[in-house]
Amino acid sequence: MNVSYDYSDTTVVVTGGSSGIGRAVARRFGAAGATVINADVRRDPKDIAEEQPTDELVDDVGGRGVYVETDVADVAAIEAVVEAAHEYGGVDVMVNNAAIFVSGNILDLDPADFDRLHAVNAKGVFYGTQVAALDMIDRGVGGCILNTASISADLAQFDHVQYDSTKGAVKMITRGAALELADHGVRVNAVAPGHVATEISEGWTESASEEVQSGEVIKHVPLGRAATPEDVAGAYLFLASDDARYVTGETLWVDGGLQVF
Ligand code: NAD
Repeated sequence: MNVSYDYSDTTVVVTGGSSGIGRAVARRFGAAGATVINADVRRDPKDIAEEQPTDELVDDVGGRGVYVETDVADVAAIEAVVEAAHEYGGVDVMVNNAAIFVSGNILDLDPADFDRLHAVNAKGVFYGTQVAALDMIDRGVGGCILNTASISADLAQFDHVQYDSTKGAVKMITRGAALELADHGVRVNAVAPGHVATEISEGWTESASEEVQSGEVIKHVPLGRAATPEDVAGAYLFLASDDARYVTGETLWVDGGLQVF
């Protein structure tokens, strides 16, 4: 059964929308008629020869695509992108999705890597949540904030401690913000993907543990495969929709069944 959504007259900001999950989320909101602002450090997908930039993709599928160069670790950049959204009526849905990955064992983690991961993956989500919420409250419109967490918010994996700790933070930023923003009509939820074939996961297979490299992890996915970004994107459209109007503070696992273990 196909589900269709109508997000016309809706402005969605997606951080990290140039590739992977963010790009698929941007495309799905665009296909539903939304204005989608891709807030990424780079406009081009990884392989520009094969793929058009996300803003052009959104235009092609029936939405309105915009790109604003944004480093989510910089609060001024987040403020600028939320300000830029005013030209399109203001942000209705803020998707805090950008993240980076660097592997490392607890015994030899580089503190600089730890700080950078937390600056992008956790503080970036905090900035995106706070700045978007203040703007939504100021405009008196309510709104929806969606954060990309991960199964890593709950499951430890070898060489993932600095990444996993950022995703645990995302889960609790989501819950805390949901609690404090409910009175303002702002819902806050997270999506927790499992193993998704994207650029970031190439980093895992190149540098993470033997277990990941050998595909052992995928063997434990009950649905038997890694996800595509498209497998994950629909969860964001559901959580932003009226059908999810009584859902807030939730972290929705989209993981092929991994959480059963
Ligand atoms: P990806 O590497 O394909 O996409 C990440 C995007 O974020 C890139 O376009 C990159 O340019 C952008 N980005 C990086 N640093 C940024 C910054 N400082 N400011 C703005 N943009 C920045 O990875 P992905 O798999 O699509 O990851 C998207 C989200 O999904 C991340 O939060 C990631 O942690 C999460 N996630 C991914 C998986 C997976 O298996 N791929 C699993 C669970 C969760």
